[in-house]
Amino acid sequence: MEKAVKILKANNIRITPQRLGVYEILSDKNKHLTADDIYRKIKISFPSISLATVYSILELYHKKHLLNEIRIDFDKSCFDSRTETHHHFLCKQCSKIYDINLQPCPALNAKEVDGHIIHELQGYFYGICSECKEKK
Ligand SMILES: [Zn+2]
Ligand SMILES: [Zn+2]
Repeated sequence: MEKAVKILKANNIRITPQRLGVYEILSDKNKHLTADDIYRKIKISFPSISLATVYSILELYHKKHLLNEIRIDFDKSCFDSRTETHHHFLCKQCSKIYDINLQPCPALNAKEVDGHIIHELQGYFYGICSECKEKK
């Protein structure tokens, strides 16, 4: 809780209980949640919150670079509070999204490619996760 307050303050975000709640849900462990997932969780503490409010809070955090939007699953956006560069793996069998840790490749360290400035780089990998592989 205190950590979340500090981060929001450091980013000049006016703290409201709802904003704090969304941030706490996002930073809980290392989850990749959709706006609907967050909405379902935050409704437990704030029954009157609307999905539109959740979206506007997510947009604010995205603007402040407190979260990344992940589109590994083309049907839905997921939000990730781990903002340092890392890649994702989607299991085709159980639909779970994993963080994967790869050694930095030259493209990750480059600030420009073909004269274009790189702001963000995300790699998406698809296959069968280690848990599903074990079950077979
Ligand atoms: Zn799996
Ligand atoms: Zn991630």
